[in-house]
Amino acid sequence: FPIFCYGEWLSDEKAIMGTSVKITLWHHDKSHGEAAIKTVFDEMERINQLMSPYINSSELYSVNKNAAIQPVKISNEFYLLIKQAQLISAQTKGAFDITFASVGFLYNYRERISPSNQVRDTNQALIDYRQVELNDKNQTVHFRQQGMKIDLGGIAKGYAVDNAITILQSQGIDSALVSAGGDTKALGKHGDRPWLLAIQDPRKKGKHAIQLPMENEAISTSGDYERYFVQDGVRHHHIIDPKTGHSAAKVQSVSIIGQRGVMTDALSTSVFVLGVKDGLTLINSMPNFEALIIDKDRKLHFSNGLLAH
Ligand code: ADP
Ligand code: MG
Ligand code: MG
Repeated sequence: FPIFCYGEWLSDEKAIMGTSVKITLWHHDKSHGEAAIKTVFDEMERINQLMSPYINSSELYSVNKNAAIQPVKISNEFYLLIKQAQLISAQTKGAFDITFASVGFLYNYRERISPSNQVRDTNQALIDYRQVELNDKNQTVHFRQQGMKIDLGGIAKGYAVDNAITILQSQGIDSALVSAGGDTKALGKHGDRPWLLAIQDPRKKGKHAIQLPMENEAISTSGDYERYFVQDGVRHHHIIDPKTGHSAAKVQSVSIIGQRGVMTDALSTSVFVLGVKDGLTLINSMPNFEALIIDKDRKLHFSNGLLAH
C-alpha cells in the first residue's frame, strides 16, 4: 500500500477558567485529534477546579479561608505553582504578587464595583508576598496576616497552556496552537511557516497592533482593555499595582515571549505593573525572554532581542 502523509486542521473552543480556551491542531486521524482536544479541555477544567477562587472545593478556596488561622497542607502541584509565583515576586521586586487578591477581590468589573479609597487602603496593607509562608517539607502555606487572600489568575492560564502542549505532544501531535485568553503556546509550525500571533490594538476592538511569528514558544499578553470599566475618568481594570492597590496605569498592553507559558504569563502581568522603563530593564536582563509594550500614548517598545529582528 502507498502511504500518504495526509491530515487536516481541527479546531475547537470552550469556555473554561473564566475565558475562552481555543485549540487548533493538525492531525492525521480525526478521532485521534478530537480525543486529544478533549483531553486538553479536561486538563484545563482540572486546573480550574484546583485554583478557582469561586469554587468552594478548590485548594485555593480553602487556603484563602484557612491559611491565616493555621498552615494549610496543599497538593504538590499547587504548592509548586505558588512557589513559582513567589520566585517571580522576588524577581520583579513585588510587581507580581499573588496577594494582590487582598484588594482584587473587592472589584467586580462586570458590575462596575470598586472599593472605596478607605477600604482599598486598608486592604492594600495586606498585599505582601513575603507574608505568605511556605513550608517545603510539609507542603503547607500559611498567611502571616489576617484578611490576606491570594489568587493565581496572573499565572494559572500560562501554566495551563504549558500542560496542554505537553499533553498534545505526548499524543503524537506536532503542530498545534493553544490559547486561554491572553496566554498562548505554539507547538511546531503552522504548516511550513511559523504561527502568526496577532496582538490586539488596546484601544480599537478587533484591530491588530502587530503580528508576531511564533514557533515552539509561548506568548502572553496583559492588557487594560479586557476586564475593565471607567468611572470618573479612572480606568479600573484587573491588573493591580501592589504598591498602590489601584489598577496599574503605566501602559496599555504588554506581551512577553518565552519558552514556558507559566513564566510569560506571570511576566506579562509583572511588566504591565512595572511600565516601560523598569519592564524592559527586567526583560533585557532575562535571557530567552522578549517583550513588546504598548505605552499610554500607544507607542510600541521592544526588548533588545525583538529590536534585533
Ligand atoms: P489574563 O487574565 O488576560 O491572562 P494577565 O495574565 O495579565 O491577564 O492576568 C491578570 C490577572 O492577574 C488578574 O485578573 C488577576 O487575577 C491577576 N493579577 C492582577 N494583578 C496582579 C499582580 N500585581 N500580581 C499577580 N497577579 C495579579
Ligand atoms: Mg499574565
Ligand atoms: Mg494571563
